[in-house]
Amino acid sequence: MTAASKLGQAGAPAASSPVEQRVRDLRALIADYGYAYYVLDKPVVSDAHYDALFRELQRLESEHPGLASAESPTQRVGAPVSAGFAAVRHAVPMLSLGNAFSEADLVAFDRRVRESLVAAGLPEAELSYSTELKYDGLAVSLRYEGGRLARGSTRGDGTTGEDVTTNLRTIQAVPLQLRGLAPAVLEVRGEVLMYRSDFARLNERQASAGEKVFVNPRNAAAGSLRQLDPAITAQRSLRFFAYGVGEVRGVELPRSHGALLDWLQDAGFPVGRERSRASDPGEMMDFFEQISALRPQLDYEIDGVVYKVDRRDWHEAIGFVARAPRYAIAHKFAAEEAVTELLDIEIQVGRTGVLTPVARLRPVFVGGTTVSNATLHNEDEIRRKDLRVGDSVVVRRAGDVIPEVVRSLPRPVEPVGADGATGPEPPQFRMPGACPACGSPAVREEGEAAWRCVSGLFCPAQRKQALLHFAQRRAMDIEGLGEKLVDALVDSGMVKTAADLYRLEAGQLAALERMGDKSAANVVAAIARSRRTTLARLLFALGIRHVGEEVALVLAREYRGLDVLADEDWNQVQVRKQEVLRENVRRRSRGEKLAPIPLEGVGPEIVASVARFFADPHNRAVIADLRSAGVVCEEQEQPVSSLLAGRTFVVTGTLATMSRNEAHERLRALGATVSGAVSKKTDCLVAGEEAGSKLAKARELGVQVLDENQFIKIIAGD
Ligand code: NAD
Repeated sequence: MTAASKLGQAGAPAASSPVEQRVRDLRALIADYGYAYYVLDKPVVSDAHYDALFRELQRLESEHPGLASAESPTQRVGAPVSAGFAAVRHAVPMLSLGNAFSEADLVAFDRRVRESLVAAGLPEAELSYSTELKYDGLAVSLRYEGGRLARGSTRGDGTTGEDVTTNLRTIQAVPLQLRGLAPAVLEVRGEVLMYRSDFARLNERQASAGEKVFVNPRNAAAGSLRQLDPAITAQRSLRFFAYGVGEVRGVELPRSHGALLDWLQDAGFPVGRERSRASDPGEMMDFFEQISALRPQLDYEIDGVVYKVDRRDWHEAIGFVARAPRYAIAHKFAAEEAVTELLDIEIQVGRTGVLTPVARLRPVFVGGTTVSNATLHNEDEIRRKDLRVGDSVVVRRAGDVIPEVVRSLPRPVEPVGADGATGPEPPQFRMPGACPACGSPAVREEGEAAWRCVSGLFCPAQRKQALLHFAQRRAMDIEGLGEKLVDALVDSGMVKTAADLYRLEAGQLAALERMGDKSAANVVAAIARSRRTTLARLLFALGIRHVGEEVALVLAREYRGLDVLADEDWNQVQVRKQEVLRENVRRRSRGEKLAPIPLEGVGPEIVASVARFFADPHNRAVIADLRSAGVVCEEQEQPVSSLLAGRTFVVTGTLATMSRNEAHERLRALGATVSGAVSKKTDCLVAGEEAGSKLAKARELGVQVLDENQFIKIIAGD
């Protein structure tokens, strides 16, 4: 919500129409939700909600063609490759599917297919569709060369995916070798998923180990496949179903899709058993109904069915739209809904002080689970839906487990008194003016949807959450510092900031209730061990808004220490990034290799948040305090050139032989740190043509200045 409203405000020309504004907001929202879903594997809204926004955007773009944009999410598949994996370019793009939600959508789909067959001079009367399940997992491509599994990748943005070969090799259902054939190239496309029973077991294990539990099998599968450590993937019982092919060389494949699936099964791949054929929308509906009835009995999630023109040799003639083939369509299940009572609206205080209203519901069974709480997101959502305590509300749970309160039902109008006047309406919801955890004022800032407790780390709810976040396994990994202990430490006033942890002594801990000498000593030892950490972990542990593990990794890879991050000129970073993006548009049009994008995948909102974090004197004090408490980041392994390693460079002006960005890349690769601004900490300024104020500043500060020739000699190691 905030991303959209901010983008709308900052990026909008003064006089944009409400439709333009809505389109911009929708694009920003869909991009944010898509990032959370595809890159972080942590959806923040239900699929039904996302689909509704997506369709609204599609509708507005088709009604207002002037607003079309190649950057719109309606023109793209999935999301870019995230940090941590090598990129794989797909020989044949991996597309998404168009969606149908009703019989009318199917009729329109069938008509489009028939029209294109007629236009291509193909016998439309012979058209039939192959029907199959739409697996709710994540798409992968398995590339076999000479019959052996050579590479496996995720879909990514459809053109470039992530290389997850080692992880895919751990899946039993993925053959390492084709059965009885060895064509030059065969790419098999299919879906990786997790069975519901395996998912339940995994979440039990995660919960008892104090680890994060996954919201649904799809996210568990995505999170498990996109693990940097294949040993973890191997423990996760992933499955695979094949449903198509990509590049094929050196083998003749069956002409129909149905026969292709049989062929794939013979070659060693699991394919779905629930398959059929349909020749018109009526028969498609029959299959849909049949599968809807079967759905609860399947041990894996499906989110619909797929219809594909059976004749594969006709596919090309029918063609593609931007992100999906026109010869296939996904028919999605409607989200499941149920009615219950809104018992209360409570306020939760999050780690960053955000006050989130949560609906307490009379427990209701919907979408395969009992729902008794649902986030209401923020005050505006509650107003928009006009939800009031005591209302009957519709609760929806789509393909995932984040339930949503969709709307309230009309309130009964009961006449009271002899004059027939109606009873009082339940009062409208109001956010409390004070934080329920600490009583400090709560405020809602301009342009923000959320209310926040102003007291930062003085609010015990925030402090506790911040400490738990700091100590968690994927952050500083302090074993034994769990919820109860953190409660006790904060309530007794022993710990106010993370740095206080490092001053604790076993004796102090042992004095706390339910804390033996041995456990106290263990916790103190675990705290001491956590002093040596990595920059990525520490960055994640600091709880900077929007900086999750992935972003922390990207930052840690591009910067060599907290000091460098703290001194970075973040405006410059944004400028640099825009330059590279523009340069890449030019390169792409010339078919040249693209330049690496600085802080790839880290959007402007995240950068702004990092900038705000490091600009805050209180945060700087905490960092200094952590350092004096002995917390150190181990050096990242990087190739090091003795001349450059650890030295801070600034590049300015125009270089004749390379872009500024390439210069940065070369420097970083050689172990140097690149900064955007000249300061006392700068070791060297590389000045190209037309260098301006930075050159003057470097001279003023006595910083070494290199011209382009000298610079090239140094990076060439001469
Ligand atoms: P999609 O899931 O609607 O359909 C395309 C995908 O279906 C293919 O890439 C493939 O992976 C899969 N598929 C499964 N069975 C198949 C079969 N038999 N044949 C061919 N393909 C098959 O599209 P998408 O682009 O992957 O994702 C968009 C969907 O993801 C949205 O509709 C939404 O439901 C969900 N989403 C949710 C959020 C969120 O925040 N909740 C965010 C982004 C996307």
